[in-house]
Parts: sequence; structure tokens; C-alpha cells
Amino acid sequence: MASTSSGACRKCQRVIAKTQMTRHLKRCLGPAESNGQYLILADMPGSPYWAYFTAPRNVTLDRIDDVLRRMWVECCQHLSAFFVNNVRFVSDPEPTSSSAFGGLFATRHVERPLSVTLKQALREGSEFRYEYDFGSTTELRIRVLDDQMAGIKGDVAVAARNEAPEVACATCGQPATALDVQDWEPVPYCETCLGSMEEMWLPLINSPRTGVCGYEGPSVEP
Ligand SMILES: [Zn+2]
Ligand SMILES: [Zn+2]
Ligand SMILES: [Zn+2]
Repeated sequence: MASTSSGACRKCQRVIAKTQMTRHLKRCLGPAESNGQYLILADMPGSPYWAYFTAPRNVTLDRIDDVLRRMWVECCQHLSAFFVNNVRFVSDPEPTSSSAFGGLFATRHVERPLSVTLKQALREGSEFRYEYDFGSTTELRIRVLDDQMAGIKGDVAVAARNEAPEVACATCGQPATALDVQDWEPVPYCETCLGSMEEMWLPLINSPRTGVCGYEGPSVEP
């Protein structure tokens, strides 16, 4: 699968390559006259999966986690976290001991709650690592690109997203719809070729978690 791909801008519907999308959205959405929103890019480097979101200034990491789960990763309610520098944002943070800030434990992670706003989290940095499931981990990169954009709508919204990558059936070459997950590497099949096999399979979903754990969508956008 290609590591870059195209997607439609949700404002003007033009299909644009990922490499051009940041520039396009900044121009197409434009700066807000008041109540500017964040422009956020979530992607999985080396994969065809990416999505741009606009989000209001009071958005919390909890809400972003929820959006990522519904659209991309939720399979069995695994734990998730955002990481930036030595701070880890989790649903149930450990109380921070003072030793975490110096001496022997200087590199230890400090935990903070997911209920913080993105604005508060941005004091630590503008590029986050997001992990869903600490076993079969799906690792995403979350970058905040702007904070003065005109949003797609009042709440978190998709501003652009990769088109579903075309994956060929391993048997006949037609577009695949399912992944055989019996072996370590998932094998794609179309419905016809899968029909003759009584094996473990998962639907092929436009998501960086497709074929992982029990992920079978649905992919619901905010
Ligand atoms: Zn546009
Ligand atoms: Zn799972
Ligand atoms: Zn086939």
C-alpha cells in the first residue's frame, strides 16, 4: 500500500493529495473572523491512512480520543493514551510524586488526565503520539497545525480524509473486502473468493487498525 494517498476536501469536495492538503485546507477553510478552531492532522506514517479535523478551542483530549475510537480504532475497549515529551495523558493517571521532576527519575513519564483541554496539552508540545491498545498497539501521530481556522462545523469534524486504499484479492485480483487473519500477516480476499473458505476473517475497513485484534469497524465520523 502506498504511504501517501488522496482525499476529498469536505468543504469544496476537490480531491487532493495528502502532500498538498495542509496548504489547501488553510486556504480553502481560511482563518476565522472569531472563535478560531484548531486544524489537526492525524496519520499513521508509512500507511495510507490520514485525517484532518477541525475542532473548537474548548475540545478535550477525551473528545479527540472518542473521535479516533469511533472512526478508526475501537475494537474491544482497550486502553489508550496521548504522549508528548515526557507527559502521558491517560484516563486514570497516577498521582505525580515530586521525584518525577528531578534526580534519578527525571525521565519518568508524568501522567495527566484525558479530561484536559487540547489548549492545556499544547503547553507540552504540538505533536502527540497516540496509542490505542498497549498489546496489539495502533500508533498514530497527531499534529496541531493551526488554531485560528474557520471550522467545518461547531463541533469536531472531518475536514479531509484519505480515500479507502484499493487492495487486491490475493486469489483473483479483484477489489478485496475482507482480510483472512488466520496467519500473522492478514491476507486480503474478495467476497467470492472468501466464500469458499471457512476461516477466520475480518472486514477490510478504511482504518489504520484494519486486520488488527478484532477490529471490524464501523467507521463512524464525528
Ligand atoms: Zn477545499
Ligand atoms: Zn481488540
Ligand atoms: Zn477474489
